Amino acid sequence: MIQMFNVSKTYSNGVKALLDVSVRIQKGSFVFLVGPSGAGKSTFIKLLFREERPSGGQIIFNGRSLIRMRDKDVPHLRRQMGVVFQDFRLLPKKTVFENVAFAMEVVEGPVKKIRQRVPQVLDMVGLGSKANLYPHQLSGGEQQRVSIARAIVNDPMLIIADEPTGNLDPETAKEIMDLLLDINRRGTTIIMATHARDIVDSMRQRVIAIEGGRVVRDEERGSYEKEK
Ligand code: ADP
Ligand code: ADP
Repeated sequence: MIQMFNVSKTYSNGVKALLDVSVRIQKGSFVFLVGPSGAGKSTFIKLLFREERPSGGQIIFNGRSLIRMRDKDVPHLRRQMGVVFQDFRLLPKKTVFENVAFAMEVVEGPVKKIRQRVPQVLDMVGLGSKANLYPHQLSGGEQQRVSIARAIVNDPMLIIADEPTGNLDPETAKEIMDLLLDINRRGTTIIMATHARDIVDSMRQRVIAIEGGRVVRDEERGSYEKEK
């Protein structure tokens, strides 16, 4: 589903954030992206949803070149992706229901479908009874569930999660991982950048390790650090 060929990214200030990165990610896979701060993980993610363009190389998403894609086709690309952030990024003045519905409104989902789909997705993330609360009335774990509901509501092919458990205690983090795994098992590809060693080591999924802008390790059932 995703192919990167010899991708590099040099920012305008001369910083080389990625160097000669080639990876292939199959549909339905679960991939951890690990590496120290400044390694290039966020850049990798930004290239995928075309927030940045590479300086060299090729990126194919679902058969289409992100390099050649015109700006007018970027919204359509992003509709096929849901993003989850460490800091949730919910709209504070909207209820749980409205936060999730908003993601459908911006892609012009019909009102009838929104009324039907949002409660389904809230049930799926375990927040069926909290639809009318505001983000500040929820725990961190619940806020992250809302943001996951928002990410999946338009049924994307890919979920990109940037440090989704970074603000959560270990137990809550585990619940969020169970939810992401559940979504993955239903067929959605997940790419998750993380520093959560315990999570990566317990899940034994594919691990792509980036250091200094290069892929230094890519293992099918990997761990957070290279095993001795
Ligand atoms: P990570 O997510 O692994 O911490 P990043 O992709 O954010 O790494 O950063 C990789 C390198 O690129 C770092 O040296 C960072 O300072 C630099 N960088 C990131 N974004 C920009 C930018 N917009 N302009 C210039 N340099 C950047
Ligand atoms: P089950 O197999 O447990 O009955 P379903 O596949 O019927 O579950 O899905 C239950 C809910 O989750 C429905 O609202 C469905 O639209 C939603 N759903 C299922 N798969 C995904 C997915 N990959 N991404 C987002 N939502 C999904």
